[in-house]
Amino acid sequence: MSALPDRFGRPLRNLRLSVTDRCNLRCQYCMPEEDYVWLPKADVLTFEETLQLVDVFCALGVDKVRLTGGEPLLRQELPVFVRMLADRPAIREIALTSNGVLLAEHAAALRAAGLQRITVSLDTLDRGTFQMLSRRDDLARVLAGIDAARAAGFTDLKLDTVVIDGINDAELPALVDFARGKGAEVRFIEYMDVGGATHWRMDRVVSRERMLQQLTAAFGPIRAIPRNDSAPAERFTLPDGTTFGVIASVTAPFCATCDRARLTADGMWFTCLYAKAGTDLRAALRGGASVAELTQLVATTWAARSDRGAEQRAAMPDRTPLAARDALRASPHLEMHTRGG
Ligand code: SAM
Ligand code: SF4
Ligand code: SF4
Repeated sequence: MSALPDRFGRPLRNLRLSVTDRCNLRCQYCMPEEDYVWLPKADVLTFEETLQLVDVFCALGVDKVRLTGGEPLLRQELPVFVRMLADRPAIREIALTSNGVLLAEHAAALRAAGLQRITVSLDTLDRGTFQMLSRRDDLARVLAGIDAARAAGFTDLKLDTVVIDGINDAELPALVDFARGKGAEVRFIEYMDVGGATHWRMDRVVSRERMLQQLTAAFGPIRAIPRNDSAPAERFTLPDGTTFGVIASVTAPFCATCDRARLTADGMWFTCLYAKAGTDLRAALRGGASVAELTQLVATTWAARSDRGAEQRAAMPDRTPLAARDALRASPHLEMHTRGG
């Protein structure tokens, strides 16, 4: 399928499907509040409804699907859904981003169903720091989940680490060593001012430059690997050949090549992580829109897309969190755990 360009010529290729807004962790940079307004259960799309929308996206050029959330492993029968996706020839890659807590229970079934890649979010190797960051004592379960994923055949595992000043910024070399030992690749992510990150401050962001300085001090000269795709991570090699990635969403945004669309569990479609509003595909679907009408809606919306949220944020002189707590409560769709990371 030929790619559908938006106003900046960016094709629609990647679809992130948030399959639930619920989560079993409370990461400080994502869900710092005591309580949340959840999506009504009746609004959450069935697998069949989601697939109707997936088919529309695929007809317009999407060939990669990533399951996310919330915590996607909290969605009942997720392997059944993976199998339904795997049966679609248009989809070249099916991936999952998970916090890993429930991975040991589900890795083998997901593999058997056709899941190809897993990214596990792992911010620390220290139990106390994990507990402080996520308000749960689940580090051991995450580590067991990583081992189970490898044992199930997910050999190119990625580990994503959000780096926050004063919390886990001293752990970068240890995380590189850990990933190497597991045959995985770690990617360090700059702390973003998105969604529920109400405690975000610019001085808590550890920049790509700082990360690279720390890793150079620990391991010696680092070499950048030339890029050949639209992936957000820049990849680097250590002198011993170990590779790692950096996602510099704050200091070096990659909006120019962004080919990602995000669909929430209740069918709201966002063309940017920072977008204030989305397109209500559930209303169209449940209102009886035909495939042709849905295709037209998605195509015209993408063709009109001019989002470059992270670049616009980077140009702001006094940057503060995107949304305050009250705005998030009034519009849960603004949350990262609803929108999918
Ligand atoms: N619960 C799953 C997980 O944590 O992997 C999937 C959903 S989570 C919203 C997806 C990704 O978004 C995670 O890797 C998480 O670290 C990242 N994320 C959430 N809030 C962030 C923030 N403020 N800055 C950078 N990354 C963030
Ligand atoms: Fe943490 Fe992911 Fe849950 Fe957000 S959705 S609180 S990043 S585990
Ligand atoms: Fe894409 Fe928006 Fe993120 Fe930029 S800020 S990379 S346009 S999702």
